[in-house]
Amino acid sequence: MRESIPFIDLQAQRRRIKPEIDQAIARVLEHGQFIMGPEIAELETRLSEFCGARHTVVCASGTDALALALMAWETGPGDAVFVPAYTFVATAGVVACRGATPVFVDVLEDTFNMDPASLEAAIAAAPKMGLRPKAVIPVDMFGRPADYPAILPIAGKHGLAVLSDAAQSFGATLDGQRTGTFGQITATSFFPAKPLGCYGDGGAVFTDDEGLERILRSLRVHGQGSDKYDNVRIGINGRLDTLQAAILLQKLTVFEDEITSRNRVAARYNSALREVARVPESTKGVGSAWAQFTLLVENRDRVAGRLKEAGIPTAIYYPIPLNAQQGYKHFPSVPGGVPVSDNLATRAISLPMHPYLEAPVQDRIIDAVKQAVQN
Ligand SMILES: *Cc1c(COP(=O)(O)O)cnc(C)c1O
Repeated sequence: MRESIPFIDLQAQRRRIKPEIDQAIARVLEHGQFIMGPEIAELETRLSEFCGARHTVVCASGTDALALALMAWETGPGDAVFVPAYTFVATAGVVACRGATPVFVDVLEDTFNMDPASLEAAIAAAPKMGLRPKAVIPVDMFGRPADYPAILPIAGKHGLAVLSDAAQSFGATLDGQRTGTFGQITATSFFPAKPLGCYGDGGAVFTDDEGLERILRSLRVHGQGSDKYDNVRIGINGRLDTLQAAILLQKLTVFEDEITSRNRVAARYNSALREVARVPESTKGVGSAWAQFTLLVENRDRVAGRLKEAGIPTAIYYPIPLNAQQGYKHFPSVPGGVPVSDNLATRAISLPMHPYLEAPVQDRIIDAVKQAVQN
């Protein structure tokens, strides 16, 4: 019988660094500082060194990382926060939870990322909706950095804060610069399936701004001031567990090598499948973290069904754009709507993608995709 193919093989990574991870966990059990133990500060230092951001504040999830940024800017009712319609729900959820209004912007078909022209149109329309343009959250979809060279000047012109949702793109680069340095604040996630994942929930916020860093640290622990029973603002319990920090420190030692492997896997998929489907071509100066490898196909559901029959797992990111979600469809979209997001939701399909995908297994996937799309 043929071996079943995992969509993401976390066990292969674990086998590679098992002794190191086991020892790191054992050390935490021994010292017993489960909350804000020494691994937390060490991880923050290492993450800053890795990505080049001056300050790193680790936290409990990618969602909390986004929420902490909006709290630091005191985003609230009457504020418009521009988000892509085609993203994971958390990008808009954190905005709505603040009582602010997510305004849905369309994306580009070739990169899955925010369309700068659509952002301009949404900003122009916001005052007519009775909203103050406050911030924009570009998402680095599937690991590819958003078009910051186009978005940052637009945000600058309109006085918008830029929160980079890099939940899927930690380890990616743009003109040699790493994710974590593109917006005023960057949020990432260490959810297990993300490029750098822990063994539970985790996240981090990055900024070069010392004033913001101080506020983010305070917000992470109930808005604490000089000590934990001095509360100078309204915050949350958004701490990362020491155990997760210890695990991430070990995973970080192989992360750069894993990004290289992901790029190799993606390049192989691209050259083999370019003829039969719309593939996510690389862009000059942009180094994706390849969180997902996502194709565009016609008859997507039929293709997914055929691949399932062939024993190839796939995933649909995202079947319903946020503008059409029951909990979100009352929020405004850019004038003219988000036709590209609506369309991608019917055509996108993601293939198995991880650093330990061996060539023979990948060939099996490639052959099955060719058959599924052609017949
Ligand atoms: C995963 C993800 C999040 C949320 O991260 P969690 O750690 O699961 O809270 C936010 N935005 C995007 C684009 C994501 O993919």
